[in-house]
Amino acid sequence: MNSIYNFSAGPAMIPKDVLKKAQKELKNWNNLGCSVMEISHRTKEFHQVIKEAEEDLRDLLNIPDTYKVLFCQGGARGQFSAIPMNLLGNLSRADYINSGYWSNSAFLESKKYCNSKNILIRKTKNNNIYLLKPSEWNISNISAYIHYCPNETIDGLSLYEEPSFQNKIVVGDFSSFILSRSININKYGLIYAGAQKNIGPSGITIVIIRKDLIGYASKLCPSVFDYNIMHQYNSMFNTPPTFAWYLSGLVFKWLKQQGGIKKIEQLNKKKSDLLYQVIDNSHFYINNIDKKNRSQMNVVFHLFNSELDKIFLQESNKFGLYALKGHFIVGGMRASIYNAMPIEGVKKLAKFMLFFEKKYG
Ligand SMILES: *Cc1c(COP(=O)(O)O)cnc(C)c1O
Repeated sequence: MNSIYNFSAGPAMIPKDVLKKAQKELKNWNNLGCSVMEISHRTKEFHQVIKEAEEDLRDLLNIPDTYKVLFCQGGARGQFSAIPMNLLGNLSRADYINSGYWSNSAFLESKKYCNSKNILIRKTKNNNIYLLKPSEWNISNISAYIHYCPNETIDGLSLYEEPSFQNKIVVGDFSSFILSRSININKYGLIYAGAQKNIGPSGITIVIIRKDLIGYASKLCPSVFDYNIMHQYNSMFNTPPTFAWYLSGLVFKWLKQQGGIKKIEQLNKKKSDLLYQVIDNSHFYINNIDKKNRSQMNVVFHLFNSELDKIFLQESNKFGLYALKGHFIVGGMRASIYNAMPIEGVKKLAKFMLFFEKKYG
């Protein structure tokens, strides 16, 4: 069973070494005679877990002291609501940069709370999909914040240029982007990410917020979504998802062992290049996203002959390559190759794609 590679988009694979460590200490964690799931989140032992998790995340992402890290629940979709409820203040307008499925979903949810502006940045030229750069975004001057998504998990689209707007709060849905490359936190008012893509198990959501933006939640904002309450209670206003928190902490330590974000970033480029090369060198696979906007996390591709889709999935499965089916709204295939996917898995997929093309092309 060791030789399977799991390309699931999320919940996604977790580093094998992390799973082994969790398995080893599952029944007797920290010599307490029970698992980490079975102790109070208020114990000093668990306090150490969350302290280290935050320190390691701060190290990895170079998070300045002027930012607070919150560990929330409710997933990224919970944040689709929490963000307008916390950041609108007295304003009734926010700019939503629309690049694909998830940023559009955030836009739709925000309409419950404000008069949000939908700014489409996804364009097509000569049959090539590309995204407008931040300097080309048609931002309004009366918006409370700008929301965007640097990696569209379903569409396989990425925006690598970090938005730089003076006196504007930039909010980013980093669910499938966080920790995949280095970023300059100072450019953002808030970034958030569900853990189940590039961190750990589902159930925990990371929110990194500039401290001066905390404390403006609307009256009706549920307490569990109020950043000020979460801040004051150190992310423990209600019982946190302790196991997911612990496991995310193990992943942060694993990332540091791998050499940190700079190293991971190089590897991620290498991994995705391998697949895009196979696609571009063939007349069998297609990806019509402009090179500068291709996702390094979610490589989406189609077979020219979609009648072969089913066979591709069956045979890849036999090869030990799992969960390559694309999201149903896009179709085709999607290889999610987050940090936890070793380059050997990507090489094996590249090899399989060449083999399959030879056989059926
Ligand atoms: C998966 C995903 C979401 C949804 O996350 P949930 O935790 O299920 O709410 C939102 N945004 C992006 C970019 C995603 O990849």
